[in-house]
Amino acid sequence: MPGHSGWAWQAMLFGAVVDLVLFNPYRIPFWTLNYFQYGGASMGGYSQNLTKRNSGLKIINGYCLICGEYKKLTEDHVPPKGAIVVTKVEQKLISESMGQGKEKIKGVLSRNGSKFKTICKDCNSYLGGSDSEISRLYKEVTPVISKYFSTATDIFSIKKFNLDALKYMRAMIGHILSATTVEECHIPQRETPYFTPLKKFVLGDEQALDDTHDVYYWFYPYRAHLSAKMVAFYHNGQMCILSLLSFFPIAFLIMEKNKGIVPEHANRLDRNSDSLILDLSTKYWDYVSFPFVSLKGNQFYAIQNDNCIISYPIKG
Ligand SMILES: [Zn+2]
Repeated sequence: MPGHSGWAWQAMLFGAVVDLVLFNPYRIPFWTLNYFQYGGASMGGYSQNLTKRNSGLKIINGYCLICGEYKKLTEDHVPPKGAIVVTKVEQKLISESMGQGKEKIKGVLSRNGSKFKTICKDCNSYLGGSDSEISRLYKEVTPVISKYFSTATDIFSIKKFNLDALKYMRAMIGHILSATTVEECHIPQRETPYFTPLKKFVLGDEQALDDTHDVYYWFYPYRAHLSAKMVAFYHNGQMCILSLLSFFPIAFLIMEKNKGIVPEHANRLDRNSDSLILDLSTKYWDYVSFPFVSLKGNQFYAIQNDNCIISYPIKG
Protein backbone atom coordinates (compact mmCIF):
# COMPACT_ATOMS: atom_id res chain seq x y z
CA MET A 1 0.00 0.00 0.00
CA PRO A 2 1.40 3.40 -0.84
CA GLY A 3 1.61 5.98 1.85
CA HIS A 4 3.41 4.27 4.67
CA SER A 5 6.40 6.52 4.48
CA GLY A 6 4.01 9.36 3.85
CA TRP A 7 2.25 8.61 7.09
CA ALA A 8 5.45 8.60 9.05
CA TRP A 9 6.25 11.97 7.58
CA GLN A 10 2.80 13.32 8.21
CA ALA A 11 2.83 12.11 11.76
CA MET A 12 5.69 14.50 12.38
CA LEU A 13 3.49 17.39 11.35
CA PHE A 14 1.45 16.83 14.41
CA GLY A 15 -0.65 19.96 14.22
CA ALA A 16 -2.06 18.88 10.89
CA VAL A 17 -2.46 15.22 11.60
CA VAL A 18 -6.08 15.29 12.68
CA ASP A 19 -7.14 16.89 9.45
CA LEU A 20 -5.05 14.46 7.48
CA VAL A 21 -6.67 11.59 9.27
CA LEU A 22 -10.16 12.93 8.80
CA PHE A 23 -9.66 13.49 5.11
CA ASN A 24 -7.20 10.74 4.47
CA PRO A 25 -7.46 8.79 1.25
CA TYR A 26 -6.70 5.47 2.93
CA ARG A 27 -9.96 5.26 4.83
CA ILE A 28 -8.50 5.06 8.29
CA PRO A 29 -11.38 4.05 10.55
CA PHE A 30 -11.31 7.24 12.56
CA TRP A 31 -14.80 6.60 13.89
CA THR A 32 -13.27 3.89 16.04
CA LEU A 33 -11.83 6.62 18.25
CA ASN A 34 -15.25 8.02 18.75
CA TYR A 35 -16.53 4.58 19.55
CA PHE A 36 -14.05 4.11 22.33
CA GLN A 37 -14.74 7.45 23.85
CA TYR A 38 -18.47 7.73 23.64
CA GLY A 39 -19.50 4.14 23.21
CA GLY A 40 -20.53 4.62 19.61
CA ALA A 41 -21.90 8.14 19.35
CA SER A 42 -22.69 9.24 15.85
CA MET A 43 -20.14 10.68 13.47
CA GLY A 44 -22.21 13.83 13.33
CA GLY A 45 -21.78 14.35 17.05
CA TYR A 46 -18.09 13.86 16.66
CA SER A 47 -17.76 16.49 13.95
CA GLN A 48 -19.56 18.95 16.16
CA ASN A 49 -17.07 18.29 18.90
CA LEU A 50 -14.25 19.21 16.57
CA THR A 51 -15.72 22.61 15.82
CA LYS A 52 -16.76 23.50 19.36
CA ARG A 53 -13.44 24.31 20.90
CA ASN A 54 -12.20 26.24 23.82
CA SER A 55 -15.36 26.94 25.71
CA GLY A 56 -12.76 26.33 28.37
CA LEU A 57 -13.36 27.18 31.97
CA LYS A 58 -16.72 28.86 31.63
CA ILE A 59 -18.69 25.69 32.18
CA ILE A 60 -20.40 25.47 35.57
CA ASN A 61 -22.27 22.18 35.71
CA GLY A 62 -21.62 19.05 33.72
CA TYR A 63 -20.99 15.32 33.80
CA CYS A 64 -17.87 14.63 35.85
CA LEU A 65 -15.34 12.72 33.76
CA ILE A 66 -14.45 10.45 36.67
CA CYS A 67 -17.64 9.59 38.59
CA GLY A 68 -20.02 10.44 35.73
CA GLU A 69 -22.47 12.37 37.90
CA TYR A 70 -24.01 15.64 36.76
CA LYS A 71 -22.58 18.17 39.18
CA LYS A 72 -20.81 21.46 39.62
CA LEU A 73 -17.39 21.12 37.99
CA THR A 74 -14.07 22.19 39.47
CA GLU A 75 -10.63 22.84 38.00
CA ASP A 76 -8.03 20.12 37.96
CA HIS A 77 -4.39 21.08 37.55
CA VAL A 78 -2.40 18.83 35.24
CA PRO A 79 0.35 18.24 36.20
CA PRO A 80 -0.63 18.72 39.84
CA LYS A 81 1.00 21.79 41.36
CA GLY A 82 3.19 19.90 43.80
CA ALA A 83 4.81 17.94 40.99
CA ILE A 84 6.40 20.89 39.28
CA VAL A 85 9.48 21.22 41.39
CA VAL A 86 12.18 21.36 38.77
CA THR A 87 14.04 24.65 38.72
CA LYS A 88 15.28 26.61 35.74
CA VAL A 89 18.85 25.76 36.63
CA GLU A 90 18.11 22.06 36.70
CA GLN A 91 16.29 22.30 33.39
CA LYS A 92 19.23 24.03 31.81
CA LEU A 93 21.62 21.49 33.19
CA ILE A 94 19.65 18.63 31.78
CA SER A 95 18.99 20.11 28.37
CA GLU A 96 22.64 21.06 28.00
CA SER A 97 23.68 17.53 28.72
CA MET A 98 21.57 16.47 25.76
CA GLY A 99 24.05 18.17 23.49
CA GLN A 100 21.64 20.27 21.51
CA GLY A 101 19.68 22.04 24.18
CA LYS A 102 16.53 21.32 22.22
CA GLU A 103 13.42 19.37 22.94
CA LYS A 104 12.99 16.86 20.20
CA ILE A 105 9.26 16.54 20.37
CA LYS A 106 7.79 15.80 17.02
CA GLY A 107 4.71 17.76 16.49
CA VAL A 108 3.13 20.27 18.73
CA LEU A 109 -0.46 21.01 19.53
CA SER A 110 -0.79 24.00 21.74
CA ARG A 111 -3.91 23.94 23.85
CA ASN A 112 -5.51 25.77 26.68
CA GLY A 113 -2.81 25.26 29.28
CA SER A 114 -2.94 23.10 32.29
CA LYS A 115 -6.29 23.63 34.02
CA PHE A 116 -9.22 21.41 33.18
CA LYS A 117 -12.67 22.08 34.57
CA THR A 118 -13.92 18.61 33.91
CA ILE A 119 -14.32 16.85 37.27
CA CYS A 120 -16.52 17.40 40.31
CA LYS A 121 -15.37 18.65 43.69
CA ASP A 122 -15.58 15.22 45.30
CA CYS A 123 -13.44 13.57 42.63
CA ASN A 124 -11.05 16.52 42.72
CA SER A 125 -10.44 16.26 46.45
CA TYR A 126 -10.28 12.48 46.25
CA LEU A 127 -7.63 12.82 43.57
CA GLY A 128 -5.84 15.43 45.68
CA GLY A 129 -5.24 12.76 48.32
CA SER A 130 -3.27 10.69 45.83
CA ASP A 131 -1.44 13.71 44.40
CA SER A 132 0.71 13.76 47.51
CA GLU A 133 2.42 10.63 46.19
CA ILE A 134 3.28 12.37 42.91
CA SER A 135 4.80 15.35 44.69
CA ARG A 136 6.61 13.16 47.23
CA LEU A 137 8.09 11.05 44.46
CA TYR A 138 9.11 14.03 42.35
CA LYS A 139 10.81 15.70 45.29
CA GLU A 140 12.81 12.54 45.82
CA VAL A 141 13.65 11.98 42.16
CA THR A 142 14.56 15.48 41.00
CA PRO A 143 17.70 16.04 43.16
CA VAL A 144 19.00 12.60 42.21
CA ILE A 145 18.62 13.40 38.52
CA SER A 146 20.16 16.81 38.98
CA LYS A 147 23.13 15.29 40.78
CA TYR A 148 23.56 12.63 38.11
CA PHE A 149 23.78 15.18 35.30
CA SER A 150 26.06 17.51 37.21
CA THR A 151 28.46 14.82 38.39
CA ALA A 152 30.57 13.35 35.63
CA THR A 153 31.81 10.62 37.95
CA ASP A 154 28.45 8.97 38.48
CA ILE A 155 28.46 6.10 36.02
CA PHE A 156 25.33 4.41 37.31
CA SER A 157 22.44 5.64 35.21
CA ILE A 158 19.83 3.35 36.74
CA LYS A 159 18.20 4.82 39.82
CA LYS A 160 15.66 3.26 42.13
CA PHE A 161 13.06 5.12 44.18
CA ASN A 162 10.43 4.17 46.75
CA LEU A 163 6.89 4.23 45.45
CA ASP A 164 3.33 3.69 46.55
CA ALA A 165 2.37 2.45 43.08
CA LEU A 166 -1.36 2.25 43.71
CA LYS A 167 -1.58 5.81 44.92
CA TYR A 168 0.67 7.10 42.16
CA MET A 169 -1.27 5.28 39.43
CA ARG A 170 -4.59 6.47 40.81
CA ALA A 171 -3.47 10.10 40.71
CA MET A 172 -1.90 9.92 37.25
CA ILE A 173 -4.86 8.11 35.71
CA GLY A 174 -7.28 10.56 37.33
CA HIS A 175 -5.43 13.45 35.71
CA ILE A 176 -5.38 11.70 32.36
CA LEU A 177 -9.16 11.35 32.55
CA SER A 178 -9.62 15.01 33.41
CA ALA A 179 -7.18 16.51 30.89
CA THR A 180 -9.49 17.05 27.96
CA THR A 181 -12.08 19.42 26.61
CA VAL A 182 -15.15 20.34 28.63
CA GLU A 183 -17.21 19.25 25.63
CA GLU A 184 -17.05 15.74 27.05
CA CYS A 185 -18.83 17.02 30.16
CA HIS A 186 -21.96 17.88 28.17
CA ILE A 187 -22.52 14.25 27.31
CA PRO A 188 -23.69 11.59 29.78
CA GLN A 189 -20.83 9.13 30.23
CA ARG A 190 -21.37 5.70 28.75
CA GLU A 191 -19.74 2.44 29.63
CA THR A 192 -16.75 1.85 27.38
CA PRO A 193 -14.26 -1.02 27.49
CA TYR A 194 -11.37 1.40 27.58
CA PHE A 195 -12.44 4.18 29.96
CA THR A 196 -14.82 2.49 32.39
CA PRO A 197 -12.10 0.39 34.08
CA LEU A 198 -9.88 3.47 34.36
CA LYS A 199 -12.63 5.38 36.14
CA LYS A 200 -13.33 2.47 38.48
CA PHE A 201 -9.65 2.24 39.33
CA VAL A 202 -9.42 5.93 40.17
CA LEU A 203 -12.54 5.63 42.35
CA GLY A 204 -10.99 2.88 44.44
CA ASP A 205 -11.39 -0.48 42.69
CA GLU A 206 -7.78 -1.68 42.88
CA GLN A 207 -8.27 -4.61 40.53
CA ALA A 208 -10.21 -2.74 37.85
CA LEU A 209 -7.32 -2.66 35.37
CA ASP A 210 -5.90 -6.11 35.94
CA ASP A 211 -7.55 -7.67 32.88
CA THR A 212 -7.82 -4.67 30.62
CA HIS A 213 -4.84 -2.31 30.79
CA ASP A 214 -1.06 -2.21 31.13
CA VAL A 215 0.80 0.71 32.64
CA TYR A 216 4.34 1.73 31.68
CA TYR A 217 6.73 4.52 32.55
CA TRP A 218 10.18 5.83 31.71
CA PHE A 219 12.49 8.74 32.34
CA TYR A 220 11.20 11.84 30.58
CA PRO A 221 13.87 14.57 30.42
CA TYR A 222 11.94 17.36 28.69
CA ARG A 223 10.37 20.54 29.92
CA ALA A 224 7.23 20.23 27.84
CA HIS A 225 4.22 18.55 29.40
CA LEU A 226 2.48 16.02 27.21
CA SER A 227 -1.01 14.82 27.85
CA ALA A 228 -3.12 12.67 25.59
CA LYS A 229 -6.30 11.10 26.86
CA MET A 230 -6.65 8.89 23.86
CA VAL A 231 -4.37 8.03 20.98
CA ALA A 232 -5.01 5.29 18.46
CA PHE A 233 -1.69 3.73 17.65
CA TYR A 234 -1.46 1.58 14.54
CA HIS A 235 1.29 -0.97 14.27
CA ASN A 236 1.49 -3.71 11.65
CA GLY A 237 -2.19 -3.40 10.90
CA GLN A 238 -3.24 -3.63 14.54
CA MET A 239 -4.76 -0.77 16.46
CA CYS A 240 -4.10 -0.12 20.10
CA ILE A 241 -5.65 2.61 22.23
CA LEU A 242 -3.30 4.33 24.62
CA SER A 243 -3.21 7.30 26.99
CA LEU A 244 -0.24 9.34 28.07
CA LEU A 245 0.74 11.86 30.70
CA SER A 246 4.37 12.96 30.56
CA PHE A 247 5.96 15.71 32.60
CA PHE A 248 9.45 15.96 33.94
CA PRO A 249 10.88 13.56 35.00
CA ILE A 250 8.48 10.69 34.25
CA ALA A 251 6.42 9.62 31.25
CA PHE A 252 3.34 7.59 32.21
CA LEU A 253 1.60 5.44 29.62
CA ILE A 254 -1.57 3.37 29.78
CA MET A 255 -2.48 0.97 27.01
CA GLU A 256 -4.84 -1.85 26.22
CA LYS A 257 -3.55 -5.03 27.74
CA ASN A 258 -1.33 -7.39 25.74
CA LYS A 259 -1.46 -5.42 22.52
CA GLY A 260 2.27 -5.86 22.16
CA ILE A 261 3.19 -2.31 21.19
CA VAL A 262 5.50 -1.44 24.03
CA PRO A 263 8.34 1.05 23.67
CA GLU A 264 11.70 -0.57 24.27
CA HIS A 265 12.65 1.89 26.97
CA ALA A 266 9.44 1.44 29.00
CA ASN A 267 9.19 -0.28 32.38
CA ARG A 268 5.96 -1.94 33.36
CA LEU A 269 4.33 -0.63 36.51
CA ASP A 270 2.57 -3.09 38.77
CA ARG A 271 -0.02 -1.70 41.16
CA ASN A 272 1.58 -3.71 43.98
CA SER A 273 5.04 -2.39 43.28
CA ASP A 274 6.90 -0.52 46.01
CA SER A 275 9.58 0.94 43.77
CA LEU A 276 10.16 2.80 40.55
CA ILE A 277 13.28 2.42 38.41
CA LEU A 278 14.48 5.12 36.05
CA ASP A 279 17.30 4.74 33.55
CA LEU A 280 18.79 8.19 33.11
CA SER A 281 21.11 7.26 30.26
CA THR A 282 20.66 9.24 27.07
CA LYS A 283 20.40 6.31 24.70
CA TYR A 284 16.61 6.35 24.47
CA TRP A 285 16.12 10.08 24.35
CA ASP A 286 14.95 10.09 20.75
CA TYR A 287 11.99 8.03 21.91
CA VAL A 288 10.99 9.50 25.26
CA SER A 289 8.18 11.52 23.70
CA PHE A 290 6.49 8.34 22.53
CA PRO A 291 4.07 8.11 20.79
CA PHE A 292 4.81 11.59 19.40
CA VAL A 293 8.09 10.59 17.81
CA SER A 294 9.22 9.91 14.25
CA LEU A 295 7.56 6.66 13.35
CA LYS A 296 8.97 3.99 11.13
CA GLY A 297 7.48 1.63 8.59
CA ASN A 298 3.87 0.69 8.87
CA GLN A 299 2.95 2.41 12.08
CA PHE A 300 1.25 5.70 12.75
CA TYR A 301 -1.07 7.29 15.22
CA ALA A 302 -4.33 9.17 15.14
CA ILE A 303 -5.37 11.64 17.77
CA GLN A 304 -8.35 13.65 18.80
CA ASN A 305 -7.49 17.28 18.61
CA ASP A 306 -9.02 18.29 21.89
CA ASN A 307 -7.47 15.71 24.11
CA CYS A 308 -3.83 15.85 23.04
CA ILE A 309 -2.08 18.69 24.71
CA ILE A 310 1.42 19.97 24.93
CA SER A 311 2.15 22.77 27.36
CA TYR A 312 5.10 24.30 29.15
CA PRO A 313 5.61 25.19 32.77
CA ILE A 314 5.35 28.89 33.46
CA LYS A 315 8.78 30.47 33.61
CA GLY A 316 9.69 31.41 37.13
ZN1 LIG B 1 -16.94 13.24 40.12
